[in-house]
Amino acid sequence: MIRLHVTQPLAATATVAPTLDQSRYLTQVMRLKAGDDLLVFNGRDGEWRASVAEVLKKGVILRAEELVRPQTYGPDLELIVAVVKKARVETIVEKAAELGARRVRLVLTKRTNADRIRLDRLDAIAEEAAEQTGRMDVPAIDDPVRLDTLLDGWEAGRRLMFCDETGGAPAMAALGYSPSPTEEGEARAKWSILIGPEGGFSPEEGERLRALPFATAVSLGPRILRADTAAIAAMTLWQAAVGDWDR
Ligand code: SAM
Repeated sequence: MIRLHVTQPLAATATVAPTLDQSRYLTQVMRLKAGDDLLVFNGRDGEWRASVAEVLKKGVILRAEELVRPQTYGPDLELIVAVVKKARVETIVEKAAELGARRVRLVLTKRTNADRIRLDRLDAIAEEAAEQTGRMDVPAIDDPVRLDTLLDGWEAGRRLMFCDETGGAPAMAALGYSPSPTEEGEARAKWSILIGPEGGFSPEEGERLRALPFATAVSLGPRILRADTAAIAAMTLWQAAVGDWDR
């Protein structure tokens, strides 16, 4: 069934007016007509079966009929990635949404050599990926900030998996992987994964990151991966080691 992310509140008989683009997609691409059903979610009120109540010139009106799944969220995982070429950033955002990141934070580092970032496009990519994956929220995509600024304002209790191509600890061991993770164990921790720019982190940045008490420098193997590959590999390892891939 078609899944659509909406922003309006969802409750029994609530009516929802999707955006014009979404309305066109439903009627002109997916050929929905009045009375047809689809699934809607807004990241707060769970997933609802909704029906097309009206098809108007200015867009469709949907009505929420039945709660299908109460709201849940994946593990508290953030992806922090140095801004790289536009196409790779778009791939990274899509994969982060698919692999369960709750938030993507773009950073500018000493060696960042980046294209101009269009956040509205990245939000649309994240939304489409979330609709496709079955998750009931859409990851937030933050405006780029300097890495130092982000580290200065670090959230207490959040752990950092720092992907270090100059040599870190084997990832699974560093994440404290155990075949039967306890609910109380790592799974409850809030984690962020950090991926550097194509040019890598500068020696000063590497030094600062390795000295951080909440950071664990990890290796993603002996080969140097492109930033998008490294992001996918790191999120995969994290989900397998301490995320929700055992449930
Ligand atoms: N310029 C670097 C070099 O040539 O050594 C490569 C940077 S790599 C393209 C971009 C980022 O991906 C790195 O900063 C790191 O965060 C991550 N990465 C790539 N390969 C990795 C590996 N084998 N182990 C850990 N992190 C890796």
